[in-house]
Amino acid sequence: MAQVSLRKIVKAYEGGVQAVKGIDLEIDDHEFVVLVGPSGCGKSTTLRMIAGLEEITGGDIAIGGTIVNDIPPRDRDIAMVFQNYALYPHMSVYENMAFGLTLRKFPKAEIDTRVKAAAEILDITPLLDRKPKALSGGQRQRVAMGRAIVRNPKVFLFDEPLSNLDAKLRVQMRTEIKKVHQRVKTTTIYVTHDQVEAMTLADRVVVMNHGIIEQVGPPQELYHSP
Ligand code: ADP
Ligand code: ADP
Repeated sequence: MAQVSLRKIVKAYEGGVQAVKGIDLEIDDHEFVVLVGPSGCGKSTTLRMIAGLEEITGGDIAIGGTIVNDIPPRDRDIAMVFQNYALYPHMSVYENMAFGLTLRKFPKAEIDTRVKAAAEILDITPLLDRKPKALSGGQRQRVAMGRAIVRNPKVFLFDEPLSNLDAKLRVQMRTEIKKVHQRVKTTTIYVTHDQVEAMTLADRVVVMNHGIIEQVGPPQELYHSP
């Protein structure tokens, strides 16, 4: 059974823009899928509909076999990582990572175990007491990933997570994300406009253009010509 199913999903924004025009996609458990394509092709809208941050105009989205069309973001079994990190500036790294679990009333001991395990995976244990403003861009992105990992969701959603980093750090974080996925194996849907990022990260690449899926396949089958 697919972990995520998109069935003929459509998004029409007010004002008439059809950002997504009826796409179908089945994503398997543990799979790392990258949505790629030019700016404005509907990648972010698709991801935000899966997250529940954007209402769908038509079709169905299922996560873990359950149709989630009417389920609010907080109750979907997903965790999202954003380009701008979305960390709380007044909270420490530890509190930032714990927040999603605190909100969901997890026991303190369980939260502690999960935060420390995620910090270890991401190599940020020495940073747990710091505030976000005392972190580098790469460190902030690790914290944002840590916040997703502690939730242990069915699906990770990444929206251009590396766009704010310089080229060297982007390459380094790409490797880091790959390593984390190999360790936790959480089904991942990752949006980028960067083809190299898509190539290196994806089990399967989904190429979007003008609100439709143009091509789907493993990276070695796409991009064989420069
Ligand atoms: P991508 O992530 O591939 O750059 P988006 O999903 O952000 O593309 O946008 C797809 C299309 O929908 C674009 O034409 C964009 O201008 C339009 N769009 C995105 N968000 C909104 C919005 N809130 N209201 C109206 N149109 C939007
Ligand atoms: P309280 O909210 O009761 O004042 P804290 O939030 O300070 O307690 O700490 C509760 C538990 O969370 C501690 O036992 C500790 O294991 C863990 N903890 C809190 N902050 C950190 C941190 N910066 N690094 C590691 N563990 C922490």
